[in-house]
This record gives sequence, structure tokens and C-alpha cells, in this order.
Amino acid sequence: MTKKTTLKVIIITLAALLVLGAISTGIYYYRDILFSEDVLSRVLDEGGISIHFIDVGQGDSILIMTPDGNMLIDTGTNSSEPVLKSYLLELDIKSFEYLVLTHPHDDHIGGADMIVKEFDVENIIMTNSDEDIEIYLTLLSLIDEYDVNVIEAISGESFSLGELTSTVIAPNKDYGEYDEVNSTSVVLKCEFGECSLIFTGDAEADSELEMIEEYGDFLDCDILKLGHHGSKTSSSYEFLEITSPEYAIACCGTDNTYGHPAAEVMYRLNLFKIELLRTDKDGSIVFVCDGEELTHIK
Ligand SMILES: [Zn+2]
Repeated sequence: MTKKTTLKVIIITLAALLVLGAISTGIYYYRDILFSEDVLSRVLDEGGISIHFIDVGQGDSILIMTPDGNMLIDTGTNSSEPVLKSYLLELDIKSFEYLVLTHPHDDHIGGADMIVKEFDVENIIMTNSDEDIEIYLTLLSLIDEYDVNVIEAISGESFSLGELTSTVIAPNKDYGEYDEVNSTSVVLKCEFGECSLIFTGDAEADSELEMIEEYGDFLDCDILKLGHHGSKTSSSYEFLEITSPEYAIACCGTDNTYGHPAAEVMYRLNLFKIELLRTDKDGSIVFVCDGEELTHIK
């Protein structure tokens, strides 16, 4: 082989490797959704639901797809809007029966403007917050402009989406009575047949204690979305004991500067033998429920 031919072979091999690398990266990037797309449509056809803890980095966004429509709990940050939008479009989602905004912080309502503008939103469930931060005020005027129905989240009230029943279990005091905006988070217990889930927003230990006092054993569930991204100020020993979930989910960003989920929380989860799944390590996390069995599919 001449020097020229050897060089050619090296260049062609390198180019082939590059193309292969690009293809496999592409497959890896979309694997999250492609993997489960068939399963998801079959679940809906058979009357089941799917629950998606979407990987939006350091923020929350949870999608519940039911045969009777969709519900979205929080919308990630403003900068994660493209990720959220492409996830929803891949699943061919065009509308939401309910958009729940747990509390007015950027990592929960940051993408809400995009959702209101680009999807058909029937109802927004939120508290009567008097926060005067810009992102929240802008959202309020957008909700007005798009004429979306707003339902105030009141503890004890329920709303339905077909067979899925969601009950507001927090906040249990008026907005101004909390020291932290996090603890004003709307917390939902969702029930579908035998499957039950609790979504806590960023509720902290004080709100957890109020829920225990108010709802007791009703807090028992299969999946608990850990409060405040797995921070040590949430997921108290008492709350984990009474909710006694099989799975706990931490929605947090890779190498986040807050150290979420906290070592203390992981220790408590270990004590109760609760399996921890986390979006920073697992990417988007998906469960399905047929009304009897809850299955972790991704
Ligand atoms: Zn948060």
C-alpha cells in the first residue's frame, strides 16, 4: 500500500466512525420516546394511563396521559421549554384538560407561557398567589389574554379526568401564612383504579406535617414525587412513613448546585426500602397503570 492509499483508508475509516457515532447519538437521544411510543398508545387504547416525569433538568414537569385527555403538572424552567415542547410533540399531544401550576417559581412555571401559547389548555389549577415576580405577572396576563379557565386549588377538592381522580391535599393554610413560597405548593393525590400517586411540587416539611394532620392514611401511595427536588427540607421521616410509596422520584438536574437529591433524603428512603428514581440519572421516567397494576417502563 502506498502512503497515499494508507492515508485514504484512514480518512475513510475515520469518516465512517464519525457517521456511526452521529447515528447512535441520535438514536440514544430519541430512545426515551421511541422505546415507549407503541406501548403508550396500546395502554391508552386499553383504557390505561401513563405517567411521565419529564427530564427538564433542574425543574419539574409531569405529564399524565389518559384516554380522556391529558394533564400537565408544572412546566420546567424557561430555558427547558424546547425540551418539554419536543417531548410533548413526539407524543402527539395537542391539548391539556388540566395544567396544574404548583407555585410561582421559574423551575415550575418557566415553560407555562409556551404551553398556553402553543397548546390548547382547558383549565389551569393554581393557588391565589400574591407573588409579584415578573415571570408570574407576565403569565397571569397571558392566561387572561388566552381566556383560560382558572380553578383555585382548594384543599379537599377533587377534579376528574375520566377514571383519574385528583384531590388537592395542600396547601392547607392561606398563601400569606407560609414563610416559604415552596410550602404554598399545590399537592395532588391522583388515583386511577388501584394506582395512586402524590405530586408535591416543592412542599416542605411544614406543609407535609399539615397534610399528615389533615389527611392521615389517605396519604398512602405507590409513587411519591419527592418535594423540592429531593431537598433535605422535604420528605420528612413522618411523611415517608405515612405515604410509604414503592417508588420515590427526584426531578433534578445533572450536577445541580443544590446537591439534590440530598444525602439525608436518600438515607431516609433507604430506611423505608423505597426505590429512588431520579431524572438526572435515569432521564425521563415513565410508568403505566391499567387500573390494577403499576408498571415502570422507562
Ligand atoms: Zn422547584
